[in-house]
Amino acid sequence: MDINFLENDDIKITSISLSNSKKNIDIDILRLDKIHETISGNKWFKLKYNLLEAKNQNVECIISFGGAFSNHLHALAFAGKKFGLKTIGIVRGEKVENETLNDCKNWGMELHFISREAYRSKTNLDFLEKLNIQFPNSFIIPEGGENDLGIKGCEEILKNIEPRKYDKICCAVGTATTMIGMLKSTETDVIGFAALKNAGYMIEKIKQQSGREQIELIDDIYFGGFGKWNNELIHFIEEMELNHNLKLDKVYTAKLFYNVIKKIETAENWQHNKILIIHSGGLQGNRS
Ligand SMILES: *Cc1c(COP(=O)(O)O)cnc(C)c1O
Repeated sequence: MDINFLENDDIKITSISLSNSKKNIDIDILRLDKIHETISGNKWFKLKYNLLEAKNQNVECIISFGGAFSNHLHALAFAGKKFGLKTIGIVRGEKVENETLNDCKNWGMELHFISREAYRSKTNLDFLEKLNIQFPNSFIIPEGGENDLGIKGCEEILKNIEPRKYDKICCAVGTATTMIGMLKSTETDVIGFAALKNAGYMIEKIKQQSGREQIELIDDIYFGGFGKWNNELIHFIEEMELNHNLKLDKVYTAKLFYNVIKKIETAENWQHNKILIIHSGGLQGNRS
C-alpha cells in the first residue's frame, strides 16, 4: 500500500544571502515547509511509517498527544481524514478552543483534554494500557511522532538532495526524532538547535539512536524557553519575511535561523562552511 501524497515530491532548496550583516552569508534552505499545504514540514516524515503501520494492523483508530497548538496533532488529524483513519488527540491542559484544534475537529479528530499532571505520564505503560482499554484496537503514536517509525521516515528527508555538498546541516530540535533520522542517513554533520531549555540530556539518546559519536546540540537559543518569544524574535521573523520572502514559525524555525546566522557571524569554524538549514514548517502554529 502506498500512502504517499506529497504535493511536491521534489523538495526544493532555496538560497538566501544576507548582505545587511558585516559578513557575506549564503545559506541554502531545504524547504520542507513547501511539501504540502497542510501537512508541512517534518511532521509528514514522522507520520508516514506510523500511518502505514496503523493501516497494516487494520486498527480502528490512531491516538496521539500534543499541546493545544501542536503541529503534530494538526498533521495527524489531516492525515487521518485523508487516509480514512479515525484519529484521537489527547490534548495537554484544560479544555480550550483555537484554530489549530478547530482544524483538528473539522478533520474528524476526537479531542480529549487531560490535566497537565496526567499528561506527564503519557509514556507510562499503565497509562498506555488504560488508553488501549478505553479505545480498543488502537495504534498509539507518541507525542511528536517520537518512535522508530518516526525516525525511519526522517531518514528520507535528505533523500533527494546531495547532503555531502554541505559542511553542516542545521535543524530545529524538539524530540530530536528529525535530527536522529537525518544523522542516520548522511555522514555530514547534522547540528541540532534545541527549542527547549536545558536540552543537553537528549545528547545520550541522540548518540545511541543515531549510532554517531559526535553530536552537536546547541541549547542556549531558546529565547526564554519552549514556546516563548520576545520582540527581538518577532522583529527577526518580520525581517526575514520582508527581505527574503521566508516565513518562519516562532517556536522552532525562527530560533533556528536566528541562531545559525549568529553562529556564522561570530564563530570562526562556521564562517567558511557551506550550510544547509532544514525549514521544518510549523507555520500553522503562528496562529497561537
Ligand atoms: C515538531 C517540530 C520540530 C521538532 O522536531 P523533532 O523531530 O521533534 O525534533 C521542528 N520544527 C518544527 C517546525 C516542528 O513543528
